[in-house]
Amino acid sequence: MARYTGPVCRLCRREKMKLFLKGPKCDSMKCPIERRPYPPGEHGRDRMRQGSEYLVQLREKQKARRIYGVLEKQFANLYEEASRQSGITGENLLRMLELRLDNVAFRAGWASSRAQGRQLVRHGHVNVNGKRVTIPSYRVRRGDVVSLRDKSREMIIVRHNMDTLDRATPPWLEAGEGGQSVTVRDLPLREHIDVPVREQLIVELYSK
Ligand code: SF4
Repeated sequence: MARYTGPVCRLCRREKMKLFLKGPKCDSMKCPIERRPYPPGEHGRDRMRQGSEYLVQLREKQKARRIYGVLEKQFANLYEEASRQSGITGENLLRMLELRLDNVAFRAGWASSRAQGRQLVRHGHVNVNGKRVTIPSYRVRRGDVVSLRDKSREMIIVRHNMDTLDRATPPWLEAGEGGQSVTVRDLPLREHIDVPVREQLIVELYSK
C-alpha cells in the first residue's frame, strides 16, 4: 500500500502551520515551523501571500490529506463516497478519515502520530473485534472494539506513549482495559474532530 515517504516537516511548512505529523518533535523547539514558518524552497518566502480562490481550496485539500496520510487517489475516492452519502459532504469526508484504523490507534493514545498508528496497524499490533487487522485505512464501525494485541501491550513505544502523551480519548470512543482497548461508541461529529481543516473548501474544489 502506497504512502508518502518524503520529508515530513516540509509538508507542514508548505501549509504554513503545524500539522503534528511527527509526534514529540512537534511540541519541541526542534520543530522547523518555529524557526522557518514559511514554505520550503528557494522562493518559499515569496509564497507567503494569500493566493487565488483555487489555491486556497487546493491547500485545504492538501492539508487534510497530509494530516491523515492519505494519497491523492484514495482521497478522491473518499470524496466520491462522501458525496454519495446523505448529509453534509465535507463532514462525511472528515468522518470517514477519522474512522480509519490508524487514526483510531492515534486517538487511543497508543501512537504519538498517525504515521506511528499506521505502523502499529501494519505490523499487526491491533485487533478489531478480536481479529488482527493490518490495513491502516480499515474503517471502523459503530460498536467495533479496537484493542492492542496481548503481546503488543508491553511494547516500550506503546507504554511510553500511553504514559506520556496524556491524550484525552475523544467522545466517540470509549476507553477500556486501562486504555488498552477502545470501543467506537458512535460516529464522530464534526465538533469532535479537532483538525484545522475547512472541509467546505475541499468540497468546493472537487465540485468545480
Ligand atoms: Fe510539522 Fe511536527 Fe515537523 Fe513541526 S515537527 S514541522 S509540527 S511534523
